[in-house]
Amino acid sequence: MRAPRARASTGPSTRRTSERTGLAVPAARLGQTGRVKIDDTDRCPCLSGDPYGRCCGLVHRGERVAPTAEALMRSRYSAFVALDGDYLKRSWHPSTRPGSLSLDPDTRCLRLDIVRTWAGGPFDDAGEVEFRAIARDADGRYVLHEVSTFTREGGEWFYVDGVQMPGEPGQPS
Ligand SMILES: [Zn+2]
Repeated sequence: MRAPRARASTGPSTRRTSERTGLAVPAARLGQTGRVKIDDTDRCPCLSGDPYGRCCGLVHRGERVAPTAEALMRSRYSAFVALDGDYLKRSWHPSTRPGSLSLDPDTRCLRLDIVRTWAGGPFDDAGEVEFRAIARDADGRYVLHEVSTFTREGGEWFYVDGVQMPGEPGQPS
């Protein structure tokens, strides 16, 4: 007789590692849930100042290609807010795209700050975006500070991977 495996299901990991931040690494253990509805007239979650329907919403629906690596980064952040895993996969380069992607419905993205961009313009084929995303999950508020790498193929930007910056205090005042 096989003993049932005691899977750690007592809630989120207490480790503050990339696997719980979600932007660079899929939280593969978490179940798939429905998306969060964002109305076109809502302020875009990427904090561009434009309404969603004229900003990341266009990119999510495939009506516009993100013109820059930063625009793609913003659209991916908004997709995290919307729990739009399909878009996150679509905008992920096939060479690094995870087989499956689940998002943590308990994680709430609160704010995105673009710290720095390198290349990633309409005439580049590569780019980097350094950003800080503030989010909150069951363990509380934390900061994800990452340098993401993007590549452009066939006129479309794709997320390749990201390196998390060390030493983030995690509790912004
Ligand atoms: Zn936006």
